[in-house]
Amino acid sequence: MIGVNLLGTGGYVPLPERYLTSLYLKYNGFVILVDCGEGTQMAIREAELGFKQIGIICLTHFHADHVSGLPGLLLTIGNSGRTEPLTIIGPKYVRQIVECLCVIAPQLPFEINFVEIENHKKKDPANQIFSVDSLFVSVREVEHWIPCYAYRFDLKRQGKFNPEKAKSLGIPVKYWSVLQAGHNVNIDNTQFTPSDVMGKERKGLTVCYATDLRPSESVAEFAADADLFICEGMYGDSELYDKAVEHRHCLFSEAAEMAKNAQVKELWLTHFSPSMTNPGEYLCSATDIFANTSIGKKRTVLIFEEE
Ligand SMILES: [Zn+2]
Ligand SMILES: [Zn+2]
Repeated sequence: MIGVNLLGTGGYVPLPERYLTSLYLKYNGFVILVDCGEGTQMAIREAELGFKQIGIICLTHFHADHVSGLPGLLLTIGNSGRTEPLTIIGPKYVRQIVECLCVIAPQLPFEINFVEIENHKKKDPANQIFSVDSLFVSVREVEHWIPCYAYRFDLKRQGKFNPEKAKSLGIPVKYWSVLQAGHNVNIDNTQFTPSDVMGKERKGLTVCYATDLRPSESVAEFAADADLFICEGMYGDSELYDKAVEHRHCLFSEAAEMAKNAQVKELWLTHFSPSMTNPGEYLCSATDIFANTSIGKKRTVLIFEEE
């Protein structure tokens, strides 16, 4: 099961009723947080979600509305009793920037591992940056004022285990979990592989998150076939096109255009300009292009259950 919880939908500044854009993604008891602007820990608390399980924090870029909540959040994660290391992924200088922010949170009870995307790119051109069990995280650079990345989370799902087949092959029960975990086993000089007992690979799940960007074919390609595409829609009113270009952000219609080209199943808009009091007013400028679009709201939740 993978749970997706949009903690906030604001861009630039938090508002009383609109926390800054951030995503809380839970998979097998493990939590990935994407972006952490001011007030993100309040949004987590309000949504009654946990802090201790946050194991990875992905940062799109280093503008304040995406990182300034980090010192407080890390202290709260520490107070929640976490002692296991935590990984922070981000653009170049992620270590230096987080260390500077954390001068005011100097004593954390866990170690932080940093993954600097630029360094990683040299090793893996496919930009797959991290994985936990069968959840794979990859990144794609987007066009903004400063280096900025979209994230894609792919949950790969293997076929169903067939106990009848395992029994008929004479594989003792104690080896079943080994095969399910993808390893070969050797019993009395006979080698068994996972494919002997597992059905066909099932369709996986994909969530793609892109904020603070101008639209591009590259982002649409990156989001291709996602079950859920969460994309910024800084301005609803298409007359603000010049402003969107000037500030390197997207109109609702531009996000919808990317969703359509990517053939995603569903689009959530987020990162709204504080001047836009009612984003719903402009929803049709997106749905005219891509029908399955929703205005993101804080605590918008989607749970993908395993079949
Ligand atoms: Zn922003
Ligand atoms: Zn930005």
